Amino acid sequence: MSNRLFGTTGVRKIYGREFDLEMAVRLGKALGTILEEGTVVIGTDVRTTGKLVADALTAGVLSTGVNVVRVGLVPTPTLAFITRQNKYDAGLMVTASHNPPEYTGIKFWRPDGMGYTPEQESQIEAVYDSGVFKAAEWDKLGMLHSLDAIVEDHIAALLQHCDVHLIRTKNYTVVVDPGNGSASVLTPYLTRELGCKVLSINSQADGHFPGRRSEPDETSLGDLIKVVTDIDADLGIAHDGDADRVVFVSERGEVVRGDRTIALLAKEILAKNGKERIVTTVDSSSVLDESVARAGGATIRTPVGDVQVAIKMKESKSSFGGEACGVFIFSEFHLAPEPFLAVCKLLELMARTGRSFGDLISEIPVYPLLKDKIRCSNAKKMEVMETLSERLPEAFDNTKEVLTVDGLGIYLQNGWVLVRPSGTEPVIRITCEAHSKEAAASILKTAKEVVEKVLSS
Ligand code: MG
Repeated sequence: MSNRLFGTTGVRKIYGREFDLEMAVRLGKALGTILEEGTVVIGTDVRTTGKLVADALTAGVLSTGVNVVRVGLVPTPTLAFITRQNKYDAGLMVTASHNPPEYTGIKFWRPDGMGYTPEQESQIEAVYDSGVFKAAEWDKLGMLHSLDAIVEDHIAALLQHCDVHLIRTKNYTVVVDPGNGSASVLTPYLTRELGCKVLSINSQADGHFPGRRSEPDETSLGDLIKVVTDIDADLGIAHDGDADRVVFVSERGEVVRGDRTIALLAKEILAKNGKERIVTTVDSSSVLDESVARAGGATIRTPVGDVQVAIKMKESKSSFGGEACGVFIFSEFHLAPEPFLAVCKLLELMARTGRSFGDLISEIPVYPLLKDKIRCSNAKKMEVMETLSERLPEAFDNTKEVLTVDGLGIYLQNGWVLVRPSGTEPVIRITCEAHSKEAAASILKTAKEVVEKVLSS
C-alpha cells in the first residue's frame, strides 16, 4: 500500500520524504503518454511546494508533446470548472487538500469536470511504473500558455445558479475563514457580489497555514466562532486548504457538520425536483437518511471520497450529494465538489424563508458522533482489516447489518460504527454514531478494544 502512488483522492505524499520532483515529472509524462495529444490545465493551491511541483509536472507533460495551460493559485473546484468549461483534455490540481503543510499532492480532473475514477488513476500508475513514455522531438514539444481571471469566470457562473437579487436584499453579514488556503481568492469576493457585508479572517494565502489547521472542524474554528458571535454575523464560512470543502458556523456559534447541512439543502432540492436519491458516503449521520426519507427521497451510500459520490451521482442521475466533512456536489453545475454553490444555496434558503441558519438547522437533530484513530502501518492495514471483519461484528450483540462497501460498517439497533484504514495516513479510523452520547461512547470503547487487540496479536 505504501508503494502505491494514489490514495483515496489522487496522490498525496510528504514532500521530500515520500514525493520528489522526479516523481512529478514522471507523472506528467505518464499523463501525456496516455493522452497522446491535446491540452492539460494545471493549477496549484497555496502550499510552499506548489509551484515547484507544478513546474515539474508541466515539464513532464510538455515533453510528450501535449500542451499545458497554467492558471496559478486557484481553489480545486475552480480548476475542475475551467477544465470542463474550456474542454481541456485533463486538469491537474497540485494540492494536498486539508493535510498538514509538509504534504503535497496531485488531483486529476476529467474533461466533464469529474475527478479521475480509481480505474483512470490505475491506468496512470501503470504507465508511471512501466517507465515507457512518449518522448516528443525538440520541434514537437507541447506549448506552454497561461490563463488569468478564471476565478472571476467561476464567480460569474455561480451567480447564475442562485437568486442573486433576493439574497442582495438581505444584506447579510458573513465571516469568511479560508484558513490561509485557496478560498482566499474566491469566497470573500463571491459573498460581496451577493450583497453581503464581508469580514475575512485567515485570508492571506500562505502555505505555512499560520492561522489554523487546514481541516475545518470544531477544534480548528475557535477564532471564526468568536468573530461570528462577537459581531452578530448571520453566517460563518470556513474552507479547507484547497477549498473543495465548506463548513458553516451558525449565528449562534455552532459549527454545523456537513451531513446536517446536506440534509437541510436536500429538503429544498427534493421539494423542487420530487422523489430522487441523495448520494452520500458511509460515514454520514443517519439523520440524513431520516430527513431525506421524510422529504420523500432516499439515500445511497458510497465509499468515502468525493469522486465516489460523483460516480454514483452520475450513475443514478442524482442532482445532489456530498460528504459529512463538508463536500457538496450539485450536478446542475458540475460533478466536482462545489462549496461555493453551497454558500449561494444556503444564503438563498435563508433569504427565501426569512429564517436564520441556526433556526433552520435546529430542525435537523445532532446525533452524537465520536471519532478516534489508532496508528497502524500501511503495510499491516489489509491484514488487520481482514481479521477485524471476522472479529468486530461478533463483539456486538445487536447487529442489524454489516456493510463492506468501504472499510467495515456495522449498523446496530442503537447506532453504527465504521472502521476504515486511512487512504492517506498510517492510521485506522473508528467512527461511531448513536442517538445518545453514552451509547456512542460504549460502541467506540468496544470497537477500539477489538482493534487494539487485533493490532497487538
Ligand atoms: Mg480539500
